[in-house]
Amino acid sequence: MSQVIIVTGGSRGIGAATAILAAEGGYDVCINYKSDSSAADAVVAAITAVGQSGLSVQGDVANGNDVVRLFEVCNEKLGAPSGLVNNAGILPMQSRVAEMTSERLQHVFSVNITGCFLCAREAVKYMSTNSGGTGGSIVNLSSAAARLGSPHEFVDYAASKGAIDAFTIGLAKEVATEGIRVNAVRPGLIDTEIHASAGEPQRIDRLRSAIPMQREGSAEEVAQTILWLLSPSSSYTTGSFIEVSGGR
Ligand code: NAP
Repeated sequence: MSQVIIVTGGSRGIGAATAILAAEGGYDVCINYKSDSSAADAVVAAITAVGQSGLSVQGDVANGNDVVRLFEVCNEKLGAPSGLVNNAGILPMQSRVAEMTSERLQHVFSVNITGCFLCAREAVKYMSTNSGGTGGSIVNLSSAAARLGSPHEFVDYAASKGAIDAFTIGLAKEVATEGIRVNAVRPGLIDTEIHASAGEPQRIDRLRSAIPMQREGSAEEVAQTILWLLSPSSSYTTGSFIEVSGGR
């Protein structure tokens, strides 16, 4: 029987690339998305096209009930997950800290931080050897922004990813004896639609020359790293961070 993984925000960008690569590698995949059901349907079609089982579940990762339901539906239809990719995340409109509203800050932190906590909480329930599970691997999407701080653009987003770094270290230590590994990837500038959502579709063009490798990364390049962290090939790696940023 195939192992089952859940990819939050799996309908587009890095999450979609991860879901499809995982299916090609023999996993059954449950993706989550927030609003774009046709994009989610296309990813599920790509998963089933390679002979694996696929499923999409709508839900907001910042909503506790939605997250509980995501894991229940996955468990019922595909089986208990042994992998979680905490990928869903938002990049807010570019702004200086001085102009950030409390509503904006709450939104960014609730999706990017609380969402990861809620999904990891449910994953641990299913995976932990303490509760009858067989262990698993959790991969969190941090960002190079956690190191760089993103001044004049989105310091709140960078801070949310800094929180994910601390979360990764703490949770990895907390569940290390329960068969669960917890790691993070820190992508740099990756070619997805997220930059347009921050109000600058040409952001990569502006910043490309600052990347040591002089090019943006692809969602597939990040997905390859995520898949390694999900797999038994990384069996002695936990509480670790992999930069996928072209040297930035
Ligand atoms: P993206 O192309 O904008 O895709 C975002 C995905 O997350 C979509 O599937 C979206 O679904 C889903 N999503 C958004 N809000 C959600 C919510 N509240 N609940 C559930 N799903 C939600 O993003 P991406 O560029 O692939 O980024 C993926 C992750 O990598 C994020 O955590 C991001 O911070 C991180 N990252 C990206 C880059 C980069 O340069 N692209 C760099 C560093 C880190 P809907 O379309 O249905 O809303």
